[in-house]
Amino acid sequence: MSVSVRDALRMAALYVVLSILWLGLSELLLQRMADTPLALAIGRQINLVVWVLFSAVLIFVSRARLLNFIGAGARLRSEDRERLRMAAAVFDSTLEGVLVTDRNGLIVHVNRAFMRITGYQQDEVIGQRPSKFKSGRHGAAFYQQIYTTLTEQGEWSGEIWNRRKSGEIYPQWQTIRAICDDSGELSHYVAVFSDISAIKHSEQELAFLAHHDPLTGLPNRLLFNDRAEQAIAAAQANKRGCTLLLLDLDHFQSINDGLGHTIGDQLLKLVGERLREVLGTSVTLARLGGDEFGVLAENCQQIGHAGKLAQTIIERLREPFLCDDHRLFISASIGISLFPSDALSAEQLLRNADSALFKAKNNGRACYALYTEELTAHAQHRVETAGELRRALEQQELRVFFQPVHDLFSSQMVGVEALVRWHHPERGLVPPGEFIPIAERTGLIAEIDAWVLRQACRQMVQWQAQGKHLEFVAVNISSRLFGQHELFREVADVLHDTGLDPALLELEVTESAVMEDPEVALDQLHRLRELGLNLAIDDFGTGYSSLLRLKRMPVQKLKIDQGFVAGLPCDEDDVAIVRVIIALARSMGMKVHAEGIEQAEQARFLLEQQCQLGQGYWFGRPVPAQELRWA
Ligand code: C2E
Ligand code: MG
Ligand code: MG
Repeated sequence: MSVSVRDALRMAALYVVLSILWLGLSELLLQRMADTPLALAIGRQINLVVWVLFSAVLIFVSRARLLNFIGAGARLRSEDRERLRMAAAVFDSTLEGVLVTDRNGLIVHVNRAFMRITGYQQDEVIGQRPSKFKSGRHGAAFYQQIYTTLTEQGEWSGEIWNRRKSGEIYPQWQTIRAICDDSGELSHYVAVFSDISAIKHSEQELAFLAHHDPLTGLPNRLLFNDRAEQAIAAAQANKRGCTLLLLDLDHFQSINDGLGHTIGDQLLKLVGERLREVLGTSVTLARLGGDEFGVLAENCQQIGHAGKLAQTIIERLREPFLCDDHRLFISASIGISLFPSDALSAEQLLRNADSALFKAKNNGRACYALYTEELTAHAQHRVETAGELRRALEQQELRVFFQPVHDLFSSQMVGVEALVRWHHPERGLVPPGEFIPIAERTGLIAEIDAWVLRQACRQMVQWQAQGKHLEFVAVNISSRLFGQHELFREVADVLHDTGLDPALLELEVTESAVMEDPEVALDQLHRLRELGLNLAIDDFGTGYSSLLRLKRMPVQKLKIDQGFVAGLPCDEDDVAIVRVIIALARSMGMKVHAEGIEQAEQARFLLEQQCQLGQGYWFGRPVPAQELRWA
């Protein structure tokens, strides 16, 4: 527009100069050419008319150009208006809040989304400063940094916490831009922001999930390790102690297998709740995986306290749990390790508690054990043995020995028990007591038992073929496998593959395996029995059999534990127990089989008591198949 005014002024000046020149020159020419005053007057009139006409034409042309210019201006303004209208519509309908301030930071405009997000109406904020919305979460340095970025770069984006009219503070993602006018002068600031509290919330949820067990809502192993490290650092700084307990539910797998994972999950949830109830909120409780829980007690600094805490937990977990219609009774084993007496790092503390837990399990479960240094040596040995055992299976270092079983009435060998041995390249023959518990813990037991079963059945078929007839071959089945459904299939496969008459196979199950999960056991025993084989309860007398349950078991034989046989015939208690077991077996129509017979008097006494079968060093030790003596 300023350029056009200049043009107009230039045109006007040119017009004036040309007019003067025209009038001056034409006067000179007229004076020279006109010889009479009349001719001079007429010439001047004509000249004037020409000048007026020329001027009129010139003014007309200029006016047309001016009108054209004005018309263009008018057209431009209506396009601008349209554009502005559209901008206003966007401004108002956008989901982002928009706030405009003048160059002094006073609010001049806000949009509808702003009102929705902040809860303020337009008239409550116009003329005010955005500092009205401060949450108090950021310090002066934060706002200073925004200001500096805005002046240096003209734009700032970032997360900022502000306060709604309701007082609630919430996070925004905000972009502020400095706006300049045509002359480059700062005129406004425009802030566009969105409410990101929902995103924040899901971020928090994700962070929660990464550190918590979704089933129980308790911290997971990751968070537990973290807390243990923090607790140790704090204990170190304050010259105090702390205790770590590892808790494992006994035979939880059988609940999963027998009642299904839904009940199993429910039970775990209830266990978590009960533990929380027992421990209170000052103690960190975590689910470390499966049926394993971790407890970190920072206020528990002495062995005595730790032991009491563990005992309380064990007792409270003994109380029944109600899952759907099931009243479930469980027990737990606990390993305890203390800082600083047992370990100086979180990792070591956990490892030691794990060794102690293993000890508690070996001590018969449903108890706690404290970590002692010798356990480290054991743990070390266990890890090494587990590794070696894997190799032993691959390299076929395992052997099956057979121990004779005699009919006490006829003194004839009527059967054998298959007992596994490990022919270690350096340690020689390793007895099962040393490696079976490790195999059970590492899961290798399934492979070992399946292998022994196959070897024993194969050997029995071979003896049959050689005309060496026995009534049975007995094979031990770990209680770990007893709760597993595959056991039945595995046994069926072996019988099928080897072609052994199922009636010649006897499976030995320990009393504890049967009694820990009677319902699962009952189902498993029936399935096995349907295959046509016989079942025996091994080490009878060492568990806590319920006679009622025993009556329902499809078991054909009780094996009296060698612990009771050792005291025969003098120890009165042993005598009484053995008598009761024999009477019990007979009353239930089962055979009785005594183990660990080392002396003739023991065999004689058992015979007097009407015990049919006997096994022990008196008759023969376990030996390789080819060394078995046949009558
Ligand atoms: P078990 O099934 O009760 O086997 C009897 C144990 O008593 C055998 O020990 C046997 O050698 C021992 N024994 C037999 N007669 C006498 C005696 O007169 N005096 C004494 N002191 N001991 C005698 P072994 O072979 O060391 O086996 C120990 C346990 O290891 C077995 O107890 C059984 O529970 C387990 N086991 C053995 N082989 C296997 C197997 O293949 N699988 C599983 N899961 N466990 C097995
Ligand atoms: Mg046995
Ligand atoms: Mg036994």
